[in-house]
Amino acid sequence: MITTHNLGFPRIGPKRELKFALESYWRGDISQQQLEQTGLKIRQQNHARHRQLSFTQTGDFSFYDQVLDTSFLLGNVDNQYKKDNVTELDSYFRIARGRSSCDDSCACFRAGEMTKWFDTNYHYIVPEVSANTHFTLSPTRLLKQVEEAQLAGNQVKPVLIGPLTYLWLSKTTDNSNKLNLVDRIIPVYAQLLQLLAEKGITWVQIDEPILVTELTDEWKHALQKTYHSLKASNIQILLATYFGQLRENLQLACELPVAGIHVDTINARDEVKKVIDWLPVHKVLSLGVIDGRNIWKTDLIKTIHWLQPIYQKLRERLWLAPSCSLLHVPVDLSVEENLAEEIKPWLAFAEQKLEELQLLAHALTSGEDSIQDVLALNQEAIENRKYSRRVNKQEITNQLLKVPELSGYRQTPYAVRAEKQKNTLRLPLLPTTTIGSFPQTSDIRQTRKRFKNQEITTHDYRSSMQKEIQQAVSQQEELGIDVLVHGEAERNDMVEYFAEHLEGYIFTQFGWVQSYGSRCVKPPIIYGDISRPEAITTEWASYAQSLTDKPVKGMLTGPVTMLNWSFVRDDQPLSQTCYQLALAIRQEVFDLENKGIQIIQIDEAALREGLPLRKSDWQSYLTWAVKAFRICVNGIKDETQIHTHMCYSEFNDIIEFIGQMDADVITIETSRSQMELLQAFDDYHYPNEIGPGVYDIHSPNTPNAESIVKLIRLAAEKIPVNRLWINPDCGLKTRRWEEVIPALTHMVNAAKQLRQELA
Ligand code: GLN
Ligand code: ZN
Repeated sequence: MITTHNLGFPRIGPKRELKFALESYWRGDISQQQLEQTGLKIRQQNHARHRQLSFTQTGDFSFYDQVLDTSFLLGNVDNQYKKDNVTELDSYFRIARGRSSCDDSCACFRAGEMTKWFDTNYHYIVPEVSANTHFTLSPTRLLKQVEEAQLAGNQVKPVLIGPLTYLWLSKTTDNSNKLNLVDRIIPVYAQLLQLLAEKGITWVQIDEPILVTELTDEWKHALQKTYHSLKASNIQILLATYFGQLRENLQLACELPVAGIHVDTINARDEVKKVIDWLPVHKVLSLGVIDGRNIWKTDLIKTIHWLQPIYQKLRERLWLAPSCSLLHVPVDLSVEENLAEEIKPWLAFAEQKLEELQLLAHALTSGEDSIQDVLALNQEAIENRKYSRRVNKQEITNQLLKVPELSGYRQTPYAVRAEKQKNTLRLPLLPTTTIGSFPQTSDIRQTRKRFKNQEITTHDYRSSMQKEIQQAVSQQEELGIDVLVHGEAERNDMVEYFAEHLEGYIFTQFGWVQSYGSRCVKPPIIYGDISRPEAITTEWASYAQSLTDKPVKGMLTGPVTMLNWSFVRDDQPLSQTCYQLALAIRQEVFDLENKGIQIIQIDEAALREGLPLRKSDWQSYLTWAVKAFRICVNGIKDETQIHTHMCYSEFNDIIEFIGQMDADVITIETSRSQMELLQAFDDYHYPNEIGPGVYDIHSPNTPNAESIVKLIRLAAEKIPVNRLWINPDCGLKTRRWEEVIPALTHMVNAAKQLRQELA
C-alpha cells in the first residue's frame, strides 16, 4: 500500500463549534472544562476522518493559533502573562487577546502581535525573542493529544512547526540575531523527539515552509546544523515544505539528514523530477498532490497518470498527501444545501479532499479499474466544469483582448488633471473625508438580514437604506466634512457585497475558514468568467449626492482585493481573473461618472496581501495588479477624481507600483506609525495627493484635536500641504456613532485650525 497522510485539518469544526465555544468561554458562559470538551470532540471527529489514511496527525489542533501553541510548547512565554495564578489556558488567551480585566494603564496583558501566515489569509501570533530567550520544553498538552490520538487506533504522526521556521516567524525585541538562538532551541526539539519516541511514535512531521522562501546562507547553515543535530533522535522526521517552489533551496532540502521530505506539487509540480534525482535513495518522498489552498475537485485520472511512473520508481518510498494543511479550506462540502446543482460536483472541501487522497492511493496500488465508477464520476465533473457555458463565456474572454489598450494611463498626467479637478471640486486646503463605511448598527444588520431572508420587500429595504444614507449625509454636513460618503450600510462585507452582484461568483452557507482565533471568513468562490449584469452602487451614490451640494465619493472595491479575498479559479492565470474583475469594476466606474459622481474611490485594501513569498516574483504580480487597477479608470474624464485606499502597509518596497496606479488621491493607514510610512512617499517624490490616516479607528479611544494636529504637522513635513488630505485610517463600520462623532469633530477642527495656519 501507498502511505497516505495529511498535514493538518481545520479545527474550527464543521459548523464553527470551536468559535462558539471559545466566545462563550471568554464571556464567562461556559467553564474551561466545557471548552476542553468541545476541543476534544472536534479532535475526535477529526481523528475519525483520518481513519482510512495510514496516519492520523496530531498537534494540528489549537484553541487559537498553532504558532502560539508552539511558543507554549517551547516555554517561550513571558511570565507576566501567567501571574495571578491563572490557568495555563487563560494565560494563553491573555497573549492571544490582550488585556481583559486590567485598566488602561496596565500594559501587562498586551496582546501578541498578529500577522499573516506566509501568503495565506490565516494570521498567527508573532513569537517574541531576544538575546535573553531560553527555551524549556513544556510538552504536557501535546503529549496528551498524542495519547488521545493513539486511542483512536491509527498510527499517529505528530506535526510540529520546525525550529527554524519558528525563529524565522519570530520578531526580536532587542535587535539581536535570532539565529544565535539555534543552539538553545535544538536541545528542546531533541528532548521532545525523545519523549515522542518513548510514546511509541515512529514518524514526526516537522514543517519548514521557509524552504520555499529566499534564504540567506546563514539560514541555510542553520537548517543544516539543526537537522544534523536532530538526526541522533530515534524517530523519523518527515520535513514538510509547502506554499511554493523550492528552487535554489531544492538541493539543500533534499540533502538535509531527515527520513523524508514533503513537497507541494500544486505549486511546484515541475520540480518533482529534480527532487527525485537529488533525493538519497533511502528517503521517503511525500507528494502534496491535492490542493490544500483551494476548493476545486482534483482531476484524479490526470493525477494518477502523472503519479504512475513515479510510483513505479519509488514504490513504498512514495507517500501521498494534500499540498499543505487543509486549514485553509472549509470543512465539509456535504453540508451545503444551496449550491447550484451544476457547480457543487466541481468542489471538494477538506473532508472530500481526504477521500480523493484515498482514491489516488487505491488506484495506484490496485489499478484504476478497481475504482472505475468513482473515477468516471470524477472525470465527468472535471469535464463538465471545463466545458461549462457557465464558466466560459466567449463575450467576456473577448473583452480581455482589450487589456493592453485599457490598462494604459489616464488621458493626461496627474498635474493636468489636478488643475481641472481643483476647478470643478473647489475643495479647501486640507480637504477632509472618510474612508467609506459608517457604524454598522444592529438596525442596519437586522434590515439586511430580513431582506436577505425575504421578510421585507425590496421597497421597504430600499427606504430603510435611504434613511441610513440621509442620516449619514446630514451627519457629515453637520460635522463639516468636505467630501462625503453614503456610508455603505447596504454592505455586509466589502468583497462579498460586490461578489453578490457579479456573475461568475457563488457563495457557500458554511464555507468558513479560520482567519485568526475564533474569527472565520467565508470567501466567495469565483467559478467562471466575471460579468456585471447591472449597476451595483449607482443607486446609493446618486441618492446620497441628491441630498447635498458637497461632492459624494462613490465607493468600490478594487479587482485585486476582490481576487485576494476570494477562492479563485485554478484553470486560468490569476491575472486573467483579475482583469475580468477589473473590467466589471470599470463599468461601475463609468456608470458612476455618468450619474454625475465626481469622485470615485476604489479600495485596494488587500493589494499587498497578494505579494508572492519570494521577492523575485513581486514584479510580475505587481505589474498585473497595477494594470488591473488602471483598467478600472482608463478613459474617464480628467475631472473625475480617483481615490484609492490601502490598509496598513509597508510602502517602501512597492512605492514604485503605487506610483504606477496613478490614483489622484491615496488614503492610507498611518496614525499608528506616527506618519513614518510617509517616508517612502517622500523619498520617491510621490507626485499625487495623499490622505495619511490621522485617527486610529482600531482603537476605542477617541483622538483629541491636538493629537490630530500633531499628526498633520508631521505629515506636512513629508508631503506638501496642497497635496494633503485629512481622513481616518480606515472605514468606521466597526465603531459606534458615540465614538465616531467626537473623533470626526476633532478631525475637522484640526483641519480648520491648520488651514488658517498653513494657508
Ligand atoms: N471602504 C471600505 C470601508 O470603509 C474600506 C475598508 C478597508 O479598507 N478595509 O469600510
Ligand atoms: Zn483600510
